[in-house]
Amino acid sequence: MAIYLDHAATTPLDRAVLAAMEPYLLEHFGNASSVHGRGRQARVAVEEARERVAAALGAEPSEVVFTSGGTESDNLALKGALRARAADGRTRLVTSAAEHEAVLQPAEQLAAEGYEATVLAPDAHGRITPDRLDEALDDRVALVSLMHANNEIGTLHDIAALADVCHAHGAWLHCDAVQTAGLMALNVKDLGADLLSLSAHKLYGPKGVGALYVRGGIDLPPLVAGGAQERNRRGGTENTPGVVGLAEALTRAVERAPERVARLESLQQRLVEGLTDALDHFRFNTPVHHGPVAPHIVNISFPPHAGQPIDGEMLLLNLDMHGVQASAGSACTSGALEPSHVLTALGLPRETAAAAVRFSLGKDTSPEDVDGAVDTLADTIDRMRR
Ligand code: PLP
Repeated sequence: MAIYLDHAATTPLDRAVLAAMEPYLLEHFGNASSVHGRGRQARVAVEEARERVAAALGAEPSEVVFTSGGTESDNLALKGALRARAADGRTRLVTSAAEHEAVLQPAEQLAAEGYEATVLAPDAHGRITPDRLDEALDDRVALVSLMHANNEIGTLHDIAALADVCHAHGAWLHCDAVQTAGLMALNVKDLGADLLSLSAHKLYGPKGVGALYVRGGIDLPPLVAGGAQERNRRGGTENTPGVVGLAEALTRAVERAPERVARLESLQQRLVEGLTDALDHFRFNTPVHHGPVAPHIVNISFPPHAGQPIDGEMLLLNLDMHGVQASAGSACTSGALEPSHVLTALGLPRETAAAAVRFSLGKDTSPEDVDGAVDTLADTIDRMRR
């Protein structure tokens, strides 16, 4: 069996989550909007799922909107907030060049519609500091969108401090927490986020379902129109098995978060030490010695050595051939020849940004998996350099 170190891209469905979903895929198949018994049964399941997701985040059930995943949650947050606040003269969006495309592309679309989108350059570790953010804000900012953990390099933002800066300027803060929801215990009130995105398939739940936390009092126009579902915030027949799966996966993950984080941190340290011992002429893109990072990601690059660049795509294919599954960054970027926009935003030269490997650990990763990946990477680099 190949060693799977791509949990930031997606995780396997937990069997217990599948078991919770199964009745709603089979016998309890009703439409949650139907008035008959089967419909009411589905409605109860959807609302219980909403309560469980809210409880896991420290939110109220009415503050949870179910979506088709992280991408839709991010789109709803950005487009919804900008459209909702335009009438008050707040027509500016502020974000960072190291955000996921699910934020950067809606930002571009909003700019094309006439809103002002400011994309800040992060520091060398991928962070926007509260001071940097403060300088960038004015009273026209509707929304600031900054992720909790960067999906490519794992850098953590101090969301609570950034939220304070936003609120001092009357701006809302959207936090893309797709990489950390369920991994670390998150409380929306402690974080101070006004909007927060999460996705089930990153936390051992099913693909194609997620949620957006929308702080009470915020009214977002729907992105997907066509029905009164989700209190008019997202049209379309409810994905009952999906939201039941999301709730089960998130609840299980949050219950186990402290123990999982401790385990991941020790594996991450083992990986960092193993790479440091086994390799030379490489750099950590994950700021392992510069402030907090998520416990599941280690991203490294190989700058050209003796004038020879490493072909990043070939490196990943070679690793795969030798039984190690990893990515170059976000799954959407890998496969394309373009170097990662995140690594470029850190200031890395093109050839170094294009020669990157992201290992991302999961709940079933073992110390032997970590050691195996280090050995395979060292052998592969050795062969490629020769
Ligand atoms: N945001 C971040 C930080 C992610 O890592 C991802 C997934 O790659 C997404 C958003 C998109 O989530 P989904 O795959 O559920 O659409």
